[in-house]
Amino acid sequence: MRSSGDDNGGRDRPAHNDRLARSSSRWISEPARRTPVADESEVLVVGGGPAGVAAAIAAARSGARTTLVERAAFLGGTATGAMVASFMGFFWRDRRVTGGIGYEITRRLIDAGGAGDFMKYVMGEAAGHPFDVRTFPFDPEILKVVLDDAVRDCGIHLLLHTQVLEPVLENEKVVGATVQGRGDRKAVLAPTVIDASGDGLVVRKAGAEVEDTDGDPRSRQPMTLVARLVKVDVQRFRALPRQEKQRLVEKGYASGELALKILSLVSSPTGDDAFMLISRVSGWDGSDEAELTQAEMEGRRQVLSAIKFLRREVPGFEECSLTAMAPWIGVRETWRIVGDYMLTGEDVMAGRQFPDAVLQGGGPLDVHHPKGGDLTLAEPSSPFSVPYSCLLPRGLDGLLVAGRCASATGEAMGALRHMGPSMALGHAAGVAAALGAKRGRLPRDVDPGEVRDMLRSQDAIIDPLVPVEA
Ligand SMILES: Cc1cc2nc3c(=O)[nH]c(=O)nc-3n(C[C@H](O)[C@H](O)[C@H](O)COP(=O)(O)OP(=O)(O)OC[C@H]3O[C@@H](n4cnc5c(N)ncnc54)[C@H](O)[C@@H]3O)c2cc1C
Repeated sequence: MRSSGDDNGGRDRPAHNDRLARSSSRWISEPARRTPVADESEVLVVGGGPAGVAAAIAAARSGARTTLVERAAFLGGTATGAMVASFMGFFWRDRRVTGGIGYEITRRLIDAGGAGDFMKYVMGEAAGHPFDVRTFPFDPEILKVVLDDAVRDCGIHLLLHTQVLEPVLENEKVVGATVQGRGDRKAVLAPTVIDASGDGLVVRKAGAEVEDTDGDPRSRQPMTLVARLVKVDVQRFRALPRQEKQRLVEKGYASGELALKILSLVSSPTGDDAFMLISRVSGWDGSDEAELTQAEMEGRRQVLSAIKFLRREVPGFEECSLTAMAPWIGVRETWRIVGDYMLTGEDVMAGRQFPDAVLQGGGPLDVHHPKGGDLTLAEPSSPFSVPYSCLLPRGLDGLLVAGRCASATGEAMGALRHMGPSMALGHAAGVAAALGAKRGRLPRDVDPGEVRDMLRSQDAIIDPLVPVEA
């Protein structure tokens, strides 16, 4: 058994995986180490964002002993850590296409007083191309507790404050990972690992193929640092005529005080505060800590600049003040795996149905432009499906992938990255991993028909024509 980070100074890592490995001319040698095995589970989930939490819950409920490892102090990933406080992608037009664990989380949020319900929202209004969607705004602080409870209820072994370092490989198959928490470095072993890191971290470090939009981090969708403002008269702002919102945005963008041509606001279900997506940081690599450092600082600068403009110019914001910036900048896009199948933009837009579908998606296809402050929004002609093969990294066994790093082109990921489909991907990965554990099979040898049957029995929506209540 070897860890892919064994004492070789990283020299045998595939060059495409690691920018540092390509650029550094100096190396140190570290002593060979013996790493204690701290935990042996049937399923190890890397990353506790929407996809990872759903994957862990699904695996545990389907009967597998499950460990979930998250580097932050709380679960929720982008939903809590980047304060992106609104679920999307649960609906195609007025029809709900996401059920299962994702939908259950929305009900738990309502019961906990952390959300109202799904509501209609017009995206891209101030950018001049209004687009109707259904969103589910929530309070991210309540979501943290809802996810704690959901994970505790099904007996998942949860490690917060713990960073996954390297996959452990045996005969070219992933069988666990090394982790670093507050104490010593340890190994967690499991015959099936689910990479829900958002960055395809395990897949990249295991040397399997990954994809980047145009092969260049600078072509990725921009990052956004979200700010929570209080004392906002949300109703007054919402009542502004569309043309007035457009005029204000153009003015702020032209003066350089706004970094994007969007006034995107999610109002908290509890009062007069608003989560504002008012920063837009392009040209930095969200999977590289040195570049993320620059991005975080630029995000904070933009937030203060935008607040000055909002207070001075935008009705409803005159009295507003900043109460929090998100713990980390929201990263829309980094690496995606190259799977046995790669979902395309055409599949999404044509509403393609695959025989081994494990979820339905509703869109929209939502791509923020790396340059120019604008975004593209497009509605699929009908709900689209995602095949099981998008969860399987090509040429690598023992591993499933869920969430925004699943196998899709950059364009298709514009629809798949929303939290509804991310949780549905997690649900499917968790069920498949548990079935593999039960049958002693690798994920690639699990019967997608069995995965589909189990998903149906857990209220996931995988079939195209089942009408469901909103
Ligand atoms: C600014 C912005 C606005 C958005 N707006 C919306 C919206 O309105 N509605 C919507 O539905 N979606 C929206 N999205 C998209 C959506 O939030 C993400 O695509 C979604 O959260 C992806 O889920 P995930 O679980 O795959 O990844 P993430 O949410 O990124 O979670 C990955 C988790 O893995 C953890 N992790 C990573 N590496 C390690 C490691 N080595 N060890 C341990 N843990 C690790 C991270 O800490 C994180 O918790 C938005 C995204 C951004 C950035």
